[in-house]
Amino acid sequence: MEKIYDVVVIGAGPASSAFLCSVSDGLEIAVINKKASRKVCGGLLSSSAVRELSEMGLTAPESVKVSPKVEVIRTIDLRDGYTRYYPRDYINVDREKFDSWLMSVSAGKQDIFEGTCTGFEKVGENYLVRFLDSEGEKSLLCRSIVGGDGANSVIRRGISSEKKRKDMYIAIQQWFNASECVGHDGKNAFSCVFDNSVSDSYAWSFTKDDKIAFGGAFPKQNSRERFETEKKNLEKYGIIFGEPLTTEACNVVFSKSTQNFMLGLKNEKVYLIGEAAGLISPSSLEGISSALKSGYELGKIFAPEKSVFAEYTKKLRLLRLKLRFKRFKSFVLCSPLLRFFVMRSGIGSV
Ligand SMILES: Cc1cc2nc3c(=O)[nH]c(=O)nc-3n(C[C@H](O)[C@H](O)[C@H](O)COP(=O)(O)OP(=O)(O)OC[C@H]3O[C@@H](n4cnc5c(N)ncnc54)[C@H](O)[C@@H]3O)c2cc1C
Repeated sequence: MEKIYDVVVIGAGPASSAFLCSVSDGLEIAVINKKASRKVCGGLLSSSAVRELSEMGLTAPESVKVSPKVEVIRTIDLRDGYTRYYPRDYINVDREKFDSWLMSVSAGKQDIFEGTCTGFEKVGENYLVRFLDSEGEKSLLCRSIVGGDGANSVIRRGISSEKKRKDMYIAIQQWFNASECVGHDGKNAFSCVFDNSVSDSYAWSFTKDDKIAFGGAFPKQNSRERFETEKKNLEKYGIIFGEPLTTEACNVVFSKSTQNFMLGLKNEKVYLIGEAAGLISPSSLEGISSALKSGYELGKIFAPEKSVFAEYTKKLRLLRLKLRFKRFKSFVLCSPLLRFFVMRSGIGSV
């Protein structure tokens, strides 16, 4: 008889790892994860992420950290020509090392399948999850599904009627040798750039050891062109990047309404965690803390035989409220006139 897993988790990002850390021992768990590719991410752990890790009894080890530490973020508004420095306290990590370390914490609890999940269907009381690996199409039977498969979640698409998500932007990021870049040293190592001529979201640059990355979130149409224009606009400002070493891109949720949270299916045993659930800050694109929180909370109450959807929704009420507030903050920061007043006033800057 075919094995029935208690739960199949899709993805091996922070949300899935947090779920695996808190879910009861003794369950039959499978993880399906895509062949590793570098996640487009700033790799900055906010104080909320550090707090969530400590809730889980964890501290990011020195081996995943890189330099320099983030103390201030230079914020530039290209439209009005303002530059301000805002104090921040982030830990700078190597995202791949961070994800592997977090997954290693629960090693041994789960069977891992390297493959791309393509969808699922209900079979009686259970679910059949399909995935593609190097040998072709395979499937796993399970009592419940946890979608920790990020912004472009296949599980989310499987349970929603959203044909095309309107809150989806493209994040494009390039890496450079720090020695070839100008204007990124000292207190300028981390920047946030607003340029409404190319995007109503924002761009960023950050330093990781001897490399600098510049990236931004852009509407899908002409996204690459917008990215190159923003780089040129920064050159006029004395901020220069050298020859790109690599270019990477991914979907990113840039939520303009609060209706985009989706935690699963009512009365069913299909749940979404992390960015798949839309849990990401619209003002800073900071999402690791919400991924950890949602995965960890779901794991604590998870039971394979019944739907915990209602309880899970309750557990995340505060987080959703916090993200709604961030939506408001994002509205202020991304609207040129309001941002002009905030930056001119210098509130919160050093
Ligand atoms: C450009 C950019 C910069 C960011 N910078 C920061 C930052 O500095 N700090 C911060 O806190 N947040 C940042 N974020 C947000 C953060 O990266 C995400 O919110 C966070 O990674 C979400 O975690 P997750 O576990 O939900 O999903 P992810 O980390 O995206 O993990 C999803 C997992 O699912 C797997 N997967 C996806 N689809 C499938 C499939 N079909 N089948 C099998 N496996 C699949 C992937 O391989 C991956 O392992 C940034 C986001 C972007 C786009």
